[in-house]
Amino acid sequence: MSSAVFDLTCELIRRPSVTPEDAGCLALIGERLAAFGFRIEPMPFGPVSNLWAVHGTAGPTLAFAGHTDVVPPGDPAVWTSPPFEPTVRGDHLYGRGAADMKGSLAAMVTAAERFVTSHPDHPGRVAFLLTSDEEGIAVDGTVRVVAELVRRGEVPDWCIVGEPSSKSVLGDLMRNGRRGSLNGRLHVQGIQGHVAYPELARNPIHQALPALDALRAITWDEGNEFFPPTSFQISNLTAGTGAENVIPGTLECWFNFRFSTASTAAGLQARVRAILDGAGLDYRLDWQLSGAPFLTGRGRLVQATCEVVDEMLGVTPELSTGGGTSDGRFIAPAGAEVVELGPVNATIHKVDECVRIADLDRLSAVFEGVLERLLK
Ligand SMILES: [Zn+2]
Repeated sequence: MSSAVFDLTCELIRRPSVTPEDAGCLALIGERLAAFGFRIEPMPFGPVSNLWAVHGTAGPTLAFAGHTDVVPPGDPAVWTSPPFEPTVRGDHLYGRGAADMKGSLAAMVTAAERFVTSHPDHPGRVAFLLTSDEEGIAVDGTVRVVAELVRRGEVPDWCIVGEPSSKSVLGDLMRNGRRGSLNGRLHVQGIQGHVAYPELARNPIHQALPALDALRAITWDEGNEFFPPTSFQISNLTAGTGAENVIPGTLECWFNFRFSTASTAAGLQARVRAILDGAGLDYRLDWQLSGAPFLTGRGRLVQATCEVVDEMLGVTPELSTGGGTSDGRFIAPAGAEVVELGPVNATIHKVDECVRIADLDRLSAVFEGVLERLLK
């Protein structure tokens, strides 16, 4: 039970790189890639290790992106085998990071090694954009490296993020975008008073209710091929003094938009303000954009990756914009086409995390296949 991908996955699992620690993973990967002619550029920011590595000189760039850090294992005693000791049981390799995402890293590295060996003078550039800060706060990781690449005019054309995207079999799902998230905090100012003398008060609940109901009822957009319609949800609504005979002086309402690329944050904000202004409210509204939506449509990367998965794995990948966040949110806005493709995600972040051993070589073959298709 050994292959270049399997062996490298095991070596990475042995390094206890609990976020944001890298524990030597990037040095190991950098040495491997350097031996195959990659130019290695460590890009540390703060306590975070990052790596940018390039093979080739001109033409379009296909970058593999990923993270060496893992989430904490929790109590190791609960694991069937120690979390940082790669262990084979049945068809699977167990260890923290096996699926998220050291198996993918090993698949990328070995795919690139084979590709540059068989095509030493390939057109375009093969690159790696790796960080040790994805599972944590992610402020000194990919976002900083991308800012530097933007500054240099060196943003990749295509980027494959090795996040474990698959549901039940390798390749059955690929992510090509995600929804945006926009938070609003509304403060409505009224005039407190006695409920028996409403003419001497201004009730912020009565004033806000029609406006909130209007916001609730709006169809913000219809979504599009890859996204469901934008959703608006009120998460907190607070007013009242606790007394039955007092009209409250203020109302607080928190709400959230999960929005598609059919809307923009600025557009949603303008529509909300128009409704609140139309209702004559005396209000203050604070916004926090936690992430803009992004989408990679059916361009060359999506097409090439789908075709390779189809041919090599016999699976037609579903394109999805669901799931949690990934570093794709930092790479796509810089102008790269981005897809996420990796192993089955059933055990990620869990006790006894594992990856199907056969999938390691198959994933590496898919990555090599995409290189063959795009850098020819
Ligand atoms: Zn991950």
